[in-house]
Amino acid sequence: MAQGQTTSQAGAAKAPENARGTAKSADAAAGVTPSMAQYLEIKTANPDSLLWYRMGDFYELFFEDAVVASAALSIVLTKRGKHLGEDIPMCGVPVARADEYLQRLIRQGYRVAVCEQLEDPAEARKRGSKAVVKRDVVRLVTPGTLTEETLLDAKAANYLVAVHDVPEADGAPASVALAAFDLSTGELEVGAVPAPDLDGEIVRLAPGEILISDRRDAPAGIQSAAERSAAAVTAVPGQSFDSLAGETALKAGLGVSDLGAFGSFSRGELATLGALFRYVELTQVGQRTVVQSPRRIGADASVIIDAATRASLEITRGASGDRGGSLLAAIDRTVTGPGARLLGARIAAPLTTLPEIRARQDAVGFFIDQDIVREDIRACLKAAPDVARAVSRLALMRGGPRDLGAVRDALAAAATLDQCLAPASASGLPKDIAAVRRDLTGVAVELRARLDAALDEDLPPIRRDGGFIRAGFDTALDEARALRDDSRAVMAGLEARYGKETGVRGLKIRHNNLLGYFLEATSANAKPLLEAPLSDTFRHRQTMANAVRFVTDELVKTEGKIASAGGRALAREQELFQELADAIRAAEPQLARLGAALADLDCLTALGELARSEGYVRPEVTDDPGLAIISGRHPVVEQALRAATSDPFIANDCVLGDAGDGTPRPPGFEQSGDARVWLVTGPNMAGKSTFLRQTALIVLMAQAGSFVPAEQARIGIVDRIFSRVGASDDLARGRSTFMVEMVETAAILTQATDRSLVVLDEVGRGTSTFDGLSIAWAAVEHLHDQIGCRALFATHYHEMTALADRLASVASVTMDVKEWRDEIVFLHRVRPGAANRSYGIQVARLAGLPGDVIARAGEVLAVLEDADQGRGSADALTDLPLFEAARPKSVTMAQTGAAPSPLQDALDDVRPDELSPRAALDLLYKLKALARGD
Ligand code: ATP
Repeated sequence: MAQGQTTSQAGAAKAPENARGTAKSADAAAGVTPSMAQYLEIKTANPDSLLWYRMGDFYELFFEDAVVASAALSIVLTKRGKHLGEDIPMCGVPVARADEYLQRLIRQGYRVAVCEQLEDPAEARKRGSKAVVKRDVVRLVTPGTLTEETLLDAKAANYLVAVHDVPEADGAPASVALAAFDLSTGELEVGAVPAPDLDGEIVRLAPGEILISDRRDAPAGIQSAAERSAAAVTAVPGQSFDSLAGETALKAGLGVSDLGAFGSFSRGELATLGALFRYVELTQVGQRTVVQSPRRIGADASVIIDAATRASLEITRGASGDRGGSLLAAIDRTVTGPGARLLGARIAAPLTTLPEIRARQDAVGFFIDQDIVREDIRACLKAAPDVARAVSRLALMRGGPRDLGAVRDALAAAATLDQCLAPASASGLPKDIAAVRRDLTGVAVELRARLDAALDEDLPPIRRDGGFIRAGFDTALDEARALRDDSRAVMAGLEARYGKETGVRGLKIRHNNLLGYFLEATSANAKPLLEAPLSDTFRHRQTMANAVRFVTDELVKTEGKIASAGGRALAREQELFQELADAIRAAEPQLARLGAALADLDCLTALGELARSEGYVRPEVTDDPGLAIISGRHPVVEQALRAATSDPFIANDCVLGDAGDGTPRPPGFEQSGDARVWLVTGPNMAGKSTFLRQTALIVLMAQAGSFVPAEQARIGIVDRIFSRVGASDDLARGRSTFMVEMVETAAILTQATDRSLVVLDEVGRGTSTFDGLSIAWAAVEHLHDQIGCRALFATHYHEMTALADRLASVASVTMDVKEWRDEIVFLHRVRPGAANRSYGIQVARLAGLPGDVIARAGEVLAVLEDADQGRGSADALTDLPLFEAARPKSVTMAQTGAAPSPLQDALDDVRPDELSPRAALDLLYKLKALARGD
């Protein structure tokens, strides 16, 4: 099973190694004990997984598996018997705590093969005292195939993704087909994307595991995307990428004989589905899974956002890689796991079509206005369970009584929610809410009644021990329980009935070890029982000195029933469980829609709550090619500032391109006309990055259907968002900060379209001043002349603001600062114009650089600026080659870290306080000569 699979994630790479060790032992299996032979056979079939071998109340691990697991789990490594003359290392995990240990192993990247006893040991003993209990692997647990609540994050989907290169053919460009399946809910996405968009899609899906073919090279960028999303990469046999098998499996999963209703699927897409479902089949050992209607992945489906942009904007994960600090964490007001997952998915994939966006806005707007309805719905949703995950576990035969309870409670919640919406529906509900309500109304009424009648209020977590079916639901179960719990009362009932029916006074039921249960009457009273017709029923067993004893068939049967009542009660409860699970199975499509409707309601009411509490407004989304945000705020920084300080967040305007008639023009920005590109200058810490990111985030939120942190916003739909704000190096892959920056900038310049939004910060900072300035300059020209997109371009190079005069659609804005004595005060306000200074030294002082370093830097700067000013006016700087010649070389050297120049040496020797005015003048001439290279 699952042969040929390897996992390439750090932790999992250890598993094959350990498996090889054991396989070697398997070769020598001849002559080993029968139970060892069984173990080795199963282990050999599962070489890439740690084998959990069920023995009674423990899962035991042996050989190398035991060594690896004991280290990974910090549990004791012991020994058990010998194999080929050597001790067998062993460790064990109690069955009762299996989930906890599984979670720890999976988190470390291991895969686990769970091997169960398939028969009662008593059965095995019937075949002979040495017979081995039948065992086999019932499930492979891998990072992408989890279903247990304890192993999953309630607020995040857990996708298993398969990818497959589709070569260029018949004029169609090369692409990558991908299919993503969340086994825990049955959600399925499938489609094909151009190769450069693959990493963005993978980061969007944030899968637990990615399947690639072992026959070909993995699609480019898959490893880095996997690392970014902490996904395991598993190579599966190339032949499992089989389009025919994919089609068959999809039809079977959806329960249809034709896929027509779900759109058309390319061969590449079906092949990825083939690999995906084959893997699910292997890991779930053939158990049935829930498969929901597939959603399309593809260019037109949503805004395309690459992996670097997702990281830069911290959309669903913050800088540390988890939810904290992300946009999602700041705006998530959902109250259920499925609602949180849906909000995350919507924020990660904003829409590109106006009607859809407006429909979502209408729904959010409705809940903003209807405070009471919103609050009632949220209160009800808080108690609503994760029905999709419960249904999926039940289908996989892994569900417990609480999963049945989850379906019952979800159905109850649906009915209440339907009532919450009823009054408002009279005056017409927005389209999206009306659709949700249709899926809530009258769902599985019979199933609900049955679950209500069948299940106890409080349910145990596991089905094995019973105790979840309500008394009075099933006569057979009630009887078995009554017998089990109260044999005395049952016998007393029988005794009273017999007394009444026969008229024999003092007829008693008694018990002894020899006869078991029997009826006893005094010799004087027993006579009728010894004669026909009663003697037919009351069979004589014993005559005592003054009493006679009898049995009846009914009494013997009742006795047998009492003896096995406990077992029968349990068995009957298991039967009833399965009947209820089967009834749920029959309602799976309805329940899937119900789960989606609950998630949708949570998501929409949460966005309403957010807009209400944070004062967000409805953006006007249009087809025009511009955008105008009046008094925009950064959704995350605003909340962080409020929590940490009393400083208010300063709102800013941003108007790019022609946003259509009636576009608001903030005062002061009349001059910027319809400039599509804004050059943003200003000192460090002035708020440039915040301004850039907030613009991108507001656009993203608007297209996801949310209201936005602004006073007013009009947003022409964007097709792609690119953000490169703040660089970091990628030394693990041998790329320096500058290299990363250039790779990302290249991606933007080659992929952006005139409908894209680009925010770029400090391009060209990682190299020498002139190289950097030249690259930044040329990049802006390209964005302006060739691409024609909307862009914010923050730069340190004040010289670039000259571009605003040269290029028609470029305007300059700057972050306002106030100087006070030698201090700098950041106003965080964007105004038209350009910064004339960097204030780097003042910022360095704020950062706590030692006083003498600050003083010395001030001296050096003064000399450099003097030298610079002697070279020519700012106008001359607009001509790049001239400008390059004009800069003092020392700056370049200092920044590149090259050997000090003669100019630098001369400067180092200067002691300004010791210079007379004359000597200072002489020095200046000398420095100028050195700068010229004389
Ligand atoms: P650098 O060039 O060093 O990256 P920057 O100009 O990009 O600096 P930001 O990182 O955007 O500056 O902002 C610095 C800090 O200033 C933020 O962490 C935030 O606390 C504060 N800040 C930024 N913008 C605003 C604003 N509009 N209102 C209030 N505070 C702000």
